[in-house]
Amino acid sequence: MRVGFALVPLLGIVYLAVYQTADQVYVDHHFHEFAIAVAILLSGFVAYVTWRCYRYSGEPFLHWVAQGLTGFTVVYLPHGALTSMADHNMTLFLLFGPASRIVMAGCLFIGLLRWGWPHDPPARRGSSASFWRGIVVFLVVDALVAVIAYSPAAAHSIARLSMEGGALLLSITGILVILWRRIDTPLMWLYTIALAAFAQSSVAFLLAHAWDHQWWLAHLVFAAGFFVLSYGVIQAFHTTRAFSTVYSQTEMMRQLEEANVRLAELAATDPLTGVANRRHFLAHFTEELARRERSGESLALLVMDIDHFKQVNDRHGHAAGDVTLVAFAGRTRELLRPADLMGRIGGEEFCVLLPGVGREQAALVASRIREAMDNHPVSTSGAVLSVTVSIGVAEFGTDGESIESLMRTADERLYRAKAEGRNRVVS
Ligand code: GH3
Ligand code: MG
Ligand code: MG
Repeated sequence: MRVGFALVPLLGIVYLAVYQTADQVYVDHHFHEFAIAVAILLSGFVAYVTWRCYRYSGEPFLHWVAQGLTGFTVVYLPHGALTSMADHNMTLFLLFGPASRIVMAGCLFIGLLRWGWPHDPPARRGSSASFWRGIVVFLVVDALVAVIAYSPAAAHSIARLSMEGGALLLSITGILVILWRRIDTPLMWLYTIALAAFAQSSVAFLLAHAWDHQWWLAHLVFAAGFFVLSYGVIQAFHTTRAFSTVYSQTEMMRQLEEANVRLAELAATDPLTGVANRRHFLAHFTEELARRERSGESLALLVMDIDHFKQVNDRHGHAAGDVTLVAFAGRTRELLRPADLMGRIGGEEFCVLLPGVGREQAALVASRIREAMDNHPVSTSGAVLSVTVSIGVAEFGTDGESIESLMRTADERLYRAKAEGRNRVVS
């Protein structure tokens, strides 16, 4: 379908090549001037948008598309401006057309060779030096074309034919590069179709004589390619301002999946300590209990509460309290296996789920956690704090089989640990 769509202009070109007679011409200088003026305004505008895209994304490919559109604008301008010269020096009038097309095709081709290159650093994309360098080069091309037009070479159509043929070759080679490199983003399909239109317009120009219908059709086909390319540039401008990433469904899916993974992490994590939040912990707890019913494997729960934590806050400030929470979570996690899950249930209340672990072993893990706090003070920016923790242990089966009963039992033991003097484990 894409190939068919890209080759539609060929139907008209072949039709005219076969049926057009030499006397069928449409000579209208004013209409030509008007059409070229519209084309120049449009290409200038699209060149500007492309430069804006390049400045934003730094994509080297876009840099050359911008150069190509600028070059087309600058070199094509005299073609319109010199319309009234058509009767005096036909070559001068005609030559700027193929010159503008080969300049643009050349830049677009260089852009393709730069496809996939790392994006230019901000300092480089921000500089307008390359824009002005381009303008100078394109003005020199204008001057050269004028020189050729007034030289003896102008008598032959060799200059015009070789430039038109060169533009044709560059466009076709560009398409081959895209196919060969398997560049397959939706915007680059538009780009390929634009190149196909440019190539076909060159074919039409090669078959045409000034003012005949093939000649007008050639303009039309070129304009069609130009609209397709412009459409791609505007799409890029409204999204990522780069041709390589915009509209790539693979890229969009990848970013979406990444965002979802990050969202799931954020939704499950306590932002201060990095352990599971209450919701995630309880969801995981439910899953583990369901698994237990099938396997009969053991499971233990620790409920932990930092001792006299209000005093830490009151004496050393809330920030020191936060540091203590982070230190406690970090030290506890170091003592756990990957299958264990630690969660922050309330302000300074944490739980640990130990799959495959019975009460005795759970009490041992709890003791290690208690010692990790008891034996190592916490350094905050203001002071070094001795902080202890009390822990209650419950076991799946003997202490209950639901979240509620296990939590209640572990909580009761935690409060017993507090009542018996804190800094201890009750199992
Ligand atoms: P106990 O030994 O009986 O547990 O005494 P406690 O002072 O630790 O009492 P409790 O467990 O009721 O204290 C909870 C305190 O934890 C109250 C609140 O100021 C503090 N807290 C809760 N969340 C945070 C937090 O995110 N950061 C800080 N710095 N403090 C918190
Ligand atoms: Mg406490
Ligand atoms: Mg508490």
